[in-house]
Amino acid sequence: MTTAHDLVGKIAFTREEIIQLLSAQDENELERIRQAAERILLDTCGDEVYYRGLIEFSNICRCDCLYCGIRKSMKDVDRYELALDAIVESAQWCAEQGYGSVVLQSGERTDERFISFVQEAVAAIKQTTVSETLPHGLGITLCVGEQTRQSYERFFSAGAHRYLLRIESSNPALFSRIHPPQQTLDSRIRCLRDLAEIGFQVGTGVMIGLPGQTVEHLADDILFFRDMDIDMIGMGPYIPHAGTPLGNEPIPDEEVRTRQALLMIAATRLVLKNVNIAATTALQALHPQGREEGLRSGANVIMPQLTPVEVRKNYLLYENKPCVDESAVQCRGCLAGRIGSVGRTIGYNKWGDSRHFAGKSG
Ligand code: SAH
Repeated sequence: MTTAHDLVGKIAFTREEIIQLLSAQDENELERIRQAAERILLDTCGDEVYYRGLIEFSNICRCDCLYCGIRKSMKDVDRYELALDAIVESAQWCAEQGYGSVVLQSGERTDERFISFVQEAVAAIKQTTVSETLPHGLGITLCVGEQTRQSYERFFSAGAHRYLLRIESSNPALFSRIHPPQQTLDSRIRCLRDLAEIGFQVGTGVMIGLPGQTVEHLADDILFFRDMDIDMIGMGPYIPHAGTPLGNEPIPDEEVRTRQALLMIAATRLVLKNVNIAATTALQALHPQGREEGLRSGANVIMPQLTPVEVRKNYLLYENKPCVDESAVQCRGCLAGRIGSVGRTIGYNKWGDSRHFAGKSG
């Protein structure tokens, strides 16, 4: 058995070695992997945790992903779309708190009205958040699904500079099992390539603990992130939603999914080194200290909830989503405590861009 030190010094990992990391079960072995991932994070990215205030601005969606609580076929979801003013107001609050960046996330739509709305929202946030502390305004990440290259170009020109589009699973059979036939893995890959070519910092990720998912699939997901030269990773445990087609299929229990998700964060950090990795809210849905454990396992990004409380209950991608009732103010205090508790600092008033991306552009 190698030591944590050996893992830290390792430049390249084979598929077999990644599978071995992801198969760890013994407490000492898990701790060794966690410590190595934390070391690599501190060495390559520093101890700062970056905030991206999350605004879930609409749950209207044309997709029917088999796992998702706001899929098109969910008839009893109240559909909403925040007004431009409400979005800008949340973003301004975010800037005043020193959060540095915002994520605009929504269900997926491709109509012109939607595309121009997103474009307008990005431009308005940029215009209204420039200050002495944020000379270029808030950093803006978009997470609005698969779009045409032209739409991505419009978002980029408006001022968004990061984009999140999870691959969900890089395994073709598993991807098809969790999506309707008209949604394809090839189309997602085309989107990720377009985004990178346009100049976005590109984020992707997978759900962990999906029905039928194996450690081999997860190892291949990490190799996919590497081969696609991805800058940012957002991944978390899969959490069933009973009203969805996938909701009642057998999956590993919560403890196993939490362990797998933390191991995925650690292994991704060990293999990819200087990317940004989020400690996602879904981690906390399964474990009260899930996000702290994510940070301790190599994550360096947190997405505080900024979605107005009135609509948050309508954006339940999965059941038992935490922080549904907490206001953004409560969220701020709670998170600062959580980050401090694991000995890390908050990168206030910074975009906190992926070092990996900076490395690419010289
Ligand atoms: N429409 C946007 C935003 C989707 S929601 C897009 O396609 O990018 C953001 C992420 O939530 C998804 O990519 C998916 O990985 C995750 N998600 C959806 N349902 C989930 C569930 N039941 N459990 C865990 N994560 C889920």
